[in-house]
Amino acid sequence: MSNENKSIVEFDFNLICEYFSSIERQGPGSNKATLKALGFIENLDEKSMIADLGSGTGAQTMVLAENTTGTITAIDLFPKFIDILNSNANRNSMQNRVNGIVGSMDNLPFQHEELDLIWSEGAIYNIGFKKGIDYWRQFLKKGGYLAVSEACWLTQDRPGEIFDFWNKAYPEIDTISAKVSQIYDAGYSLSALFTLPDNCWIDNFYIPQRVAQSEFLKRHPNNIVAAELVENERLEADLYSKYNEFYGYVFFIAKKI
Ligand code: SAH
Repeated sequence: MSNENKSIVEFDFNLICEYFSSIERQGPGSNKATLKALGFIENLDEKSMIADLGSGTGAQTMVLAENTTGTITAIDLFPKFIDILNSNANRNSMQNRVNGIVGSMDNLPFQHEELDLIWSEGAIYNIGFKKGIDYWRQFLKKGGYLAVSEACWLTQDRPGEIFDFWNKAYPEIDTISAKVSQIYDAGYSLSALFTLPDNCWIDNFYIPQRVAQSEFLKRHPNNIVAAELVENERLEADLYSKYNEFYGYVFFIAKKI
């Protein structure tokens, strides 16, 4: 297929989408971490309505589907990710309980106080943690749960190199205590929090990318945008191995009060 008629923006969008749809997860995580977070959530049954926001291709959506009995609506901005998610749901005969739809997490198609659980792994940064938890709260029933993972600083101070990298990529990155305050301010109680272990980043996110990167570069020789995308992902992975004691993904499980 020729890319001649595509705008740069469209082309970047397609490249990013192609790159990340070739790996199982689009962010750090693991089935074990999803199950651990789910273990803090009470009162789910077959009538429960669950939303998985920024679902990507749905690695965690499937874990949720296999370990709950309710209905799950998965939402992601990238149509290709949603196609993969819905195909996987069909293949696992989950299509009656799992529905992937294309949409934005800052414009949700739910009714007021309709949801029992809002799930979001490695995705809320796209609209910002504070904005996300404030906006999403209206869709949760009273006593409904929010389970969200967010990049956090794990120490009070950090080296300039890693501070600059993350501050540029995601200026809202902050300490766990700052995020907990935002959770309280937004009208939730905190049920639990835990930091994702290194294997969620290394084994499940950066190592699968290594294989995907060489295939991706073979498919796009002499493409500067593709080369830059890979270079940036490699830099992020290198910085993680150098500085992982200073930051990580933290899973917050909170309840609407
Ligand atoms: N939860 C998945 C994907 C995390 S990556 C996992 O852990 O593997 C972040 C995801 O957010 C991507 O799939 C991206 O397409 C999606 N995304 C980005 N902006 C979004 C928005 N405004 N609304 C919904 N999804 C969005």
